[in-house]
Parts: sequence; structure tokens; C-alpha cells
Amino acid sequence: MTEKTQGFDTMQVHAGAKPDPATGARQVPIYQTTSYVFRDADHAAALFNLQEVGYIYSRLTNPTVMALADRIAALEGGAGAVCCSSGHAAQLLALFPLMGPGKNIVVSTRLYGGTVTQFSQTIKRFGWSATFVDFDDLDAVRGAIDENTRAIFGEAIANPGGYIMDVRAIADIADDAGVPLIIDNTSATPYLCRPIEHGATLVVHSTTKFLTGNGTVTGGCVVDAGTFDWSASDKFPSLSQPEPAYHGLVFQETFGPMAFTFHSIAIGLRDLGMTMNPQAAHYTLLGIETLSLRMRKHCDNALAVAEWLEKDERVTGVTFAGLPSSPYYERTKSVCPLGAGALFTFSVKGGYDACVKLVDSVELFSHVANLGDTRSLIIHSASTTHRQLTEEQQHAAGAAPDMVRLSIGIEDADDLIADLDQALAKATA
Ligand SMILES: *Cc1c(COP(=O)(O)O)cnc(C)c1O
Repeated sequence: MTEKTQGFDTMQVHAGAKPDPATGARQVPIYQTTSYVFRDADHAAALFNLQEVGYIYSRLTNPTVMALADRIAALEGGAGAVCCSSGHAAQLLALFPLMGPGKNIVVSTRLYGGTVTQFSQTIKRFGWSATFVDFDDLDAVRGAIDENTRAIFGEAIANPGGYIMDVRAIADIADDAGVPLIIDNTSATPYLCRPIEHGATLVVHSTTKFLTGNGTVTGGCVVDAGTFDWSASDKFPSLSQPEPAYHGLVFQETFGPMAFTFHSIAIGLRDLGMTMNPQAAHYTLLGIETLSLRMRKHCDNALAVAEWLEKDERVTGVTFAGLPSSPYYERTKSVCPLGAGALFTFSVKGGYDACVKLVDSVELFSHVANLGDTRSLIIHSASTTHRQLTEEQQHAAGAAPDMVRLSIGIEDADDLIADLDQALAKATA
């Protein structure tokens, strides 16, 4: 791809898109169609055999959705990508070719609340399991890996506290164990962090968040670096050996660096069905055009708000990794050199009750279970997103009862600070 030599700001506007061949339309059209006419029976057979790449049915591929997948792949520096219906779907789609009954993943304790629930509860229904470890304790990560481990999973900038993962150190452990590292890059976006450059194999996104950026549609994406040798062991038979769900096709042999991507479309989307629709892809394509501009402002605002909070007497702690007081400050410079993101927590004098009063008192911030919007958002994780967790899990996840999470938007920082100031006054009165 020539796109890889272009700058980020160019790729976020152009990658994956060209003037529509039928009409010359400059913006990517919304191909609102479920199916595509075959030229003839031979063409149809070639498509179904994966001998020719083309469009069959929109559960598998759609031109609008493909433009988005190609754009995200280019921004992440991956070989290929697959879009799907949500971030949670992307996590399942990423794990699906790797896992089987009795297999496990080693995951960070610091994850999006819904991911903790998906990994600690729901995947058990498939016979999969997850072992949660503190990713700052590299010996613990090594110790958690066993012969049934098939992947390691963490967030580059971890929800809700904005903790920064040492992606390279964890990638080295994954390499030694012969398993892929999967990074959820939702909070960082490829503008702040490109996990593949730090050794990750797969990158998953909730495109619902910063990539779309305007709080309109849910979506997900899995990007494959295209560098992992699935045949180096017998751990990944779906990719390295004849796949019975695709009449014995050997994906790595046939598709090389695109093996994972083709498997995720031809089997993952075909049989699990968590497809992204073209309308959603359209909104996300529009959002991505301004990703770098928004992320710069998100990061500047987050730093201004975090600096103000840290000095305030009603606040007992701020986790923003862009503050020199953060234990992650130095790591930020190598993992996300352009900024520490816009997601962090702070703790309030008065604990749980004060936090509840605070979220009830904000006027400009919106109290919602979302992040990565142009609007500033606030949530008390312990009573909402991390409510299903035990108090021990809440502490491990960085969602203690006295903590409030902010997702800082692109408004004027002074207005955000003024709103927090008046809400803190009410919460701690
Ligand atoms: C929101 C989010 C998810 C889940 O994505 P959905 O699009 O809501 O399914 C996963 N990981 C992170 C870090 C998120 O912020």
C-alpha cells in the first residue's frame, strides 16, 4: 500500500477511499445494499471459493464498510482489518480464530467495565476463560501463561483511569510464549498510539468512541499486523491447518499476511454475523477525517482540567498520565508521545456519596455511559459501568467508589473547569 508512506493527517482523509468508480462521487457513497449481482455462475463460484475477492452479501463485506476497514488498517499500520457491529463484537471476533474450549487468555485487570464482564463471565459459555493480572507486574503476566493460553489482551490507555500500558514489554512476553498480543486501542486511537509498532499482533477498537467522535453510532474493528506466524506451533489450527468450516482451506498458506483478516470475514462474520452496517461506516468515515485535530484538542483540554483538579483541595487524587505526578508520566513519552488521551479519573473528598452528588450537579458535562465524544462526559464508574464488579475488582480496575471518570471533550477548557468547580462545591458542601 502506498498509503503507508503518507502522513497520518493525509491518511485519515484519504486512505481506503477513492472517487466512486460508477459516479465519480468524491465522498464514499453509502452502499445501502445487502447483495451484489454476480457476472455469471463462474464468477459466483470463484467468489464463494475465495479465489477472487469481491462482494457477495453484506453480512460479509460491503464497499462502504470496506473503505472504513482499509482506512483504520492504514492508520494503525496493519496488513488488514475487519469492521463489525460494536467494540464488544470486535473483541469476540479477534478471539474467535484463536480460541477453543479449554483455552484461555491472559488479560489486564485494568479494562473497560463491560470487557471485564465479557471476559470474566460470558466467554465461559464458550468454554473459554480469562486470567486477570496486573500488567505492571511482568512476572505475574509471565506466570499466568500456560500451555492453553492463546492470547494476551490489554488496553494501551486503560479505562477508566487512563493508565498507560508498557506495550513493548508485554509484546515481548507474548512473543516468548508464542501467542499474539491483542491491544484494545479505543482510548488512545492510532493518532496517540500505534500498538503494532510496539509489537502487538492484533488491535481492536470500539469505533463508537473517538474514531467516530460524535456519539452517533456503535461499531468495532479488528486490525491485524499480518506479522504473526500462525504455523509456528499447533496452537492456531483455524489459521494454520485445514479449516473444516471452509471446506478444508488452509488460511495462512493461501492468504499469507491476510490470513487472519480473510478468516474473520469468511468465517467470523459469515457465521457469527456481527456485521457493521454501511450507515454506521459512513458516520465513522466522516468522524475519522478530523481524528488528529480532535485528539490534539482532547489532550490539551484533558491536561488543563487535570492540572486544575490536582491543585483543588476538594480533590484527593487525579490519575491523568500526562501529569508529572503520575507514575505513568515517563512511560507516556514512549507509548503515546503525542498526548496521554482524554480519559482519567479523580477522587473526591466525601467518597461514594459526594461522587453521586457530583454527577448530579454538573451542567455542561453529560452524565452518560460513553467516552470519546466531542462533548465532555462524566460517570461514577462504581455505581454504573463497574457496578457488576466486586469492590476488589473495582479497586483493581481503577474504579474505586470515591472515583469519578471524565472523558474530556473539545469544548473550551475554561468552561469545563467552571462546571466542575460549581459541581464540586455542591458535592462537597
Ligand atoms: C466502549 C468500549 C468497548 C466496547 O465497545 P462498544 O462499542 O460499546 O461495544 C471496549 N473497550 C473500550 C476501551 C471501550 O471504551
